[in-house]
Amino acid sequence: MARIHVLDEHIANQIAAGEVVERPASVVKELVENAIDAGSTRIEVSIEEGGLQSIKVKDNGFGIEPEDCETAFYRHATSKIESGRDLFQITSLGFRGEALPSIAAVAKVSLLTASSDDGKGKLLEIEGGKLMVNEPAPSGRGTEMTVRELFYNTPARLKYMKSIQTELGHISDAMYRMALAHPQISFTLRHNGNQLLQTLGGGDLLQVIAAVYGTSAAKAMLPVEAEDPDYRISGYISRPEWTRANRNAITTIVGGRYIRSGGLNAAIMRAYHTLLPINRYPLLVLKLDMHPSLVDVNVHPAKLEVRFSKENELYQFVEQELRKVLLGENLIPRPGRET
Ligand code: ADP
Ligand code: MG
Repeated sequence: MARIHVLDEHIANQIAAGEVVERPASVVKELVENAIDAGSTRIEVSIEEGGLQSIKVKDNGFGIEPEDCETAFYRHATSKIESGRDLFQITSLGFRGEALPSIAAVAKVSLLTASSDDGKGKLLEIEGGKLMVNEPAPSGRGTEMTVRELFYNTPARLKYMKSIQTELGHISDAMYRMALAHPQISFTLRHNGNQLLQTLGGGDLLQVIAAVYGTSAAKAMLPVEAEDPDYRISGYISRPEWTRANRNAITTIVGGRYIRSGGLNAAIMRAYHTLLPINRYPLLVLKLDMHPSLVDVNVHPAKLEVRFSKENELYQFVEQELRKVLLGENLIPRPGRET
């Protein structure tokens, strides 16, 4: 019988990568979330070949201190929480300190960053978890992360990657959601040099909806704004006459993060009940704000699912407020139907 031992850091990172880095879109999501947490107002994402060849995320955030650059790639290294108590009041998108070490374990990563305006930055290159370069380099304030040859050292995972078009679709979806959740940040997405998304960053959610879904969709939107002692909801919901064939355009945002919640979706569909034709779905961008203690985001490695502590009250509130907006609107019938 073999003795029990603690796995070395590199193997531990590769195992974590299996959960955190499922595909190129997961890398884009993690890197952009880091850029958002860094207070950026402009985030540019350039990818090549569906992200399998390269993913570059450039931000104008506060950067990483030169002496912290190497630490950022250690497992469970984070600047975002300190004590266990912080876990119940998370206000940042990241906090697990897992993304960078996981990505660096399964790709070739380069980091160029500066935390001041003096042009003195740092360049790090890491291949399959091994630090190859760590030297001073000129850089404007902000961070540029480049991830090349994702899964080059994990052929089994690479084999499961779908077509460039499919991977690109997942990346676009991830970018749309982050742009919808952060209208005050300007996002750009380019694939093989072609611009796929551009938002202005002026804080106007309707402009982001137009950039993502088109101007006719933006015109079909009704504003929602409601508050009770525990929750605040705001955003836009489509007029019942304007419907879609699937529920992909239902975006629910909690604490600046896109989340998936069966309970919330059901509440939304109840609000539209009898107003929508069968098998048709609304377009919706709904931001929910609540005290961080009312929601647990630490239940899912990709943080896609959350746990609400008073879920039934929340669902009821959402259903009732959307219903009010829809019924108010329903008095004035309007034509128009889109796929
Ligand atoms: P987490 O986001 O959970 O803290 P990550 O592994 O994603 O963990 O990042 C580790 C740390 O590296 C972050 O806590 C942050 O301090 C720093 N960092 C990563 N990306 C950026 C960025 N774009 N700008 C500034 N700091 C960053
Ligand atoms: Mg992170």
